[in-house]
Amino acid sequence: MTARVAIFGDLLDFTAEPAWGETLSSAVRWRPAHWLLVEGGRIVAVQADAPDASWERHDHAGRLVLPGFIDTHVHSPQLDVIASYGTELLDWLNTYTFPAERRYADPAQAEAGAALFLDALLAHGTTSAVVFPTVHKVSADALFAAAAQRGMRLIAGKVLMDRHAPDGLRDDVVQAERDCRELIERWHGHERLAYAVTVRFAPTSSPEQLAMAGRLCAQDPTLYMQTHVAENRAEVQWVRELFPEARSYLDVYARAGLLHPRSVLAHGIWLDDADRAALRDSGAQIAHSPSSNLFLGSGLFGWRAAEAAGVAVSLATDVGGGTSLSMLRTLADAYKVQAMAGERLTAWKALHAATRGAARSLGLGDEIGSLEPGRHADVAVWDWAVGPVAGRRMAVAQALHEQVFAWLTLGDERNLAAAYVAGRPAYRRS
Ligand SMILES: [Zn+2]
Repeated sequence: MTARVAIFGDLLDFTAEPAWGETLSSAVRWRPAHWLLVEGGRIVAVQADAPDASWERHDHAGRLVLPGFIDTHVHSPQLDVIASYGTELLDWLNTYTFPAERRYADPAQAEAGAALFLDALLAHGTTSAVVFPTVHKVSADALFAAAAQRGMRLIAGKVLMDRHAPDGLRDDVVQAERDCRELIERWHGHERLAYAVTVRFAPTSSPEQLAMAGRLCAQDPTLYMQTHVAENRAEVQWVRELFPEARSYLDVYARAGLLHPRSVLAHGIWLDDADRAALRDSGAQIAHSPSSNLFLGSGLFGWRAAEAAGVAVSLATDVGGGTSLSMLRTLADAYKVQAMAGERLTAWKALHAATRGAARSLGLGDEIGSLEPGRHADVAVWDWAVGPVAGRRMAVAQALHEQVFAWLTLGDERNLAAAYVAGRPAYRRS
């Protein structure tokens, strides 16, 4: 296969952060009927003229070409419990999630599960993710190995949990630290992989384990940190009882040294102004997971308040709390969550958060998230419409925002025609 690939289609990406409410935005870069030239896995040029015959041409005329989506919070072992009935967060963990995660102690299950998960991400147009495997070291090894095999940009780490979890899902501080250090040594900075110190959430780590996690972050500022915060009111109350010395749930992490520019905290629904200021001052970001928040009845995230306070917000599926690996469905749900708060999320704002915005808040803006020379060619190619209803809607759409918003609201993974990772075909609809 030639290393020179030219992808043709209607190119859409962003050069800046779109403002709230602007359906006409100078941050949008729209280049219909253009060629994306890829050499050695990276974008080298974007042009209207067809390249010469030395380029392998992939003609996606009439299709939308976007940067691959970045899902900033998702659980690889939870495909087995997606769409489980009838619980809120704490029940849901005990009833469905913990039993499923226990299976990942088995290396064969960890390996098969990682492959299924990553191929599913790619088949939903998601080329990068920040991922929780399980407490088992083997689950992280398997996930990293599978991502390396696919050439993906992936951030993950062994889950830390040394209390309030069933047998078979607890580690201890000493062994967990040893496992983390071995995994960091093996995978952090290897190809396109990075390690995240992964605290499940405050209730399942002892203060000693949180301190250990903070030490790991302090010793190597290139490490990421991922966890959950203030998702559900019963959870917030439990954290208040477990950590009476902390000012708030978020403050538990702040006191342990876990808030820094590479921290990704899922949810952040039940935060106050002091929490938002702490997030802003530390540079930590919120992974907003609207489908999960609706499905588990957790609450409505205040995106505008977070942004007004200077907090970076990216978007995430949170599967299996969420109901789909589709970032399109996630964006459509984000719109509904904001509508409940009287806000209107534009297609630009939503798409930016799932591409360039996420890349920048992860410190990866030079690698992914836009269709710019020098970036890795992580690209998704979408059909504008699947089926007669969407087809009709597209036929009557006038302005670009109208068209893209309808696509985003009506579309899902069935719209995905192809995905590329570093210019290599990673998914093609059969
Ligand atoms: Zn989660």
